[in-house]
Amino acid sequence: MDRIVIVGAGQGGLQAAISLRAEGFEGSIVLIGAEQHLPYQRPPLSKAFLKDGEARKLQIRPATFFERKDITLHTGVEVERIDRTDRVVWAGKESFAYDHLILATGTRNLRPPIPGLHHALDLRTLNDAQALRQALTAARSSVVIGGGFIGLEFAAVARSMGHDVCVAEAASRLMSRAVSPEMSARFLAKHRDAGTVVHLDNPVHSVTGEGVVLADGSQISADTVLLAAGVVPNTELAAAAGLLVDNGIVVNEYLLTHDDSISAMGDCAVFPNPVTGLPIRLESVQAATDHAKTIAARLVSSTHTAYAAVPWFWSDQSDWKLQIAGLAASDDDSVMREDGAVLRFANNHLSAVETINDARTHLQARKALAGALVSREQMAAVNYDLAAVK
Ligand SMILES: Cc1cc2nc3c(=O)[nH]c(=O)nc-3n(C[C@H](O)[C@H](O)[C@H](O)COP(=O)(O)OP(=O)(O)OC[C@H]3O[C@@H](n4cnc5c(N)ncnc54)[C@H](O)[C@@H]3O)c2cc1C
Repeated sequence: MDRIVIVGAGQGGLQAAISLRAEGFEGSIVLIGAEQHLPYQRPPLSKAFLKDGEARKLQIRPATFFERKDITLHTGVEVERIDRTDRVVWAGKESFAYDHLILATGTRNLRPPIPGLHHALDLRTLNDAQALRQALTAARSSVVIGGGFIGLEFAAVARSMGHDVCVAEAASRLMSRAVSPEMSARFLAKHRDAGTVVHLDNPVHSVTGEGVVLADGSQISADTVLLAAGVVPNTELAAAAGLLVDNGIVVNEYLLTHDDSISAMGDCAVFPNPVTGLPIRLESVQAATDHAKTIAARLVSSTHTAYAAVPWFWSDQSDWKLQIAGLAASDDDSVMREDGAVLRFANNHLSAVETINDARTHLQARKALAGALVSREQMAAVNYDLAAVK
């Protein structure tokens, strides 16, 4: 194999290029990204960047890296078509031939059918974050549509800047897809204590030039409205090429599509959950990074190792770092330890552990989840001490 083309120059696409060279791949690597910037980290966009505005700090590798590693980077180039027969991707009149193609196209903001949504700002790209920062300098009040990680991270920063902040969430609790009811309740109290107004079970009905109207009819005025209601995977390119798409580009446990010349990874890929076998799609730096490493190892050494990393996530909200090891469904059982860590259980087995400012327990949890399944009885017998799991 001589030519690898990677579509999407984000966290995962760049990592794939880095890992291919680290694994000793000597052929050509072409990395194509639609954004104008060098590949950058998104997590700080809803955290430190809103305060310091330092875009250079976000770059994952400097421009010189690409030359040094002989990686051809095309920024500001959007791939429009994959020709699977001739193994070529097309961007306008430009074409790039591949022996293997890696799709790392990420996600874009979900835009619910809310009247007046064009008044709201997004927070997905560096350009979005720069526009939001600019808006914040003149604003005194903000409404956030959606009480998930990104919306709440933004709320914490805006509040710390002295803004009046209101979060409108359609579900009955915060971060309901990702954390236990106990953790949702702790974060609700934390944000309310900081002075943020949080509406639950009360989605935004419409956005006006002056603020928003909620489903219950209440009107909230705001200078800035942020849309943070989730994302959709960028799958159109893959679907148009006849690849299987079902809430993401469908891949097997080796992150290979049903075309064995095309892999998909990161936020845009749906893969079998190593524990349950059910399809999952993760939106995290860890998944994108580990997917990239798995694909690079497969392409270079030809040894097929199934992707089986324990997922983990983090979210910084004010002075709390939430860390989640493992993957729980929103209705998994939970047990809260005296120190505040929450252990989740699915079918009586440990599925995830949530902690706040407790890196030690988080690491113990990742270790425990990496081994054989741990039953609830086993955990109860050691008083939910994760370090005791062998
Ligand atoms: C504000 C914010 C905060 C976040 N915070 C955290 C956090 O605290 N912790 C965490 O784990 N994760 C966080 N994430 C999620 C994390 O950034 C993503 O999971 C990660 O970037 C996924 O990497 P990826 O390579 O799959 O996609 P991305 O990094 O999104 O890269 C995809 C790239 O593909 C490009 N692209 C798409 N289609 C084409 C095409 N046809 N041609 C060329 N290029 C194309 C896109 O323009 C994009 O640049 C955050 C995300 C955001 C937006």
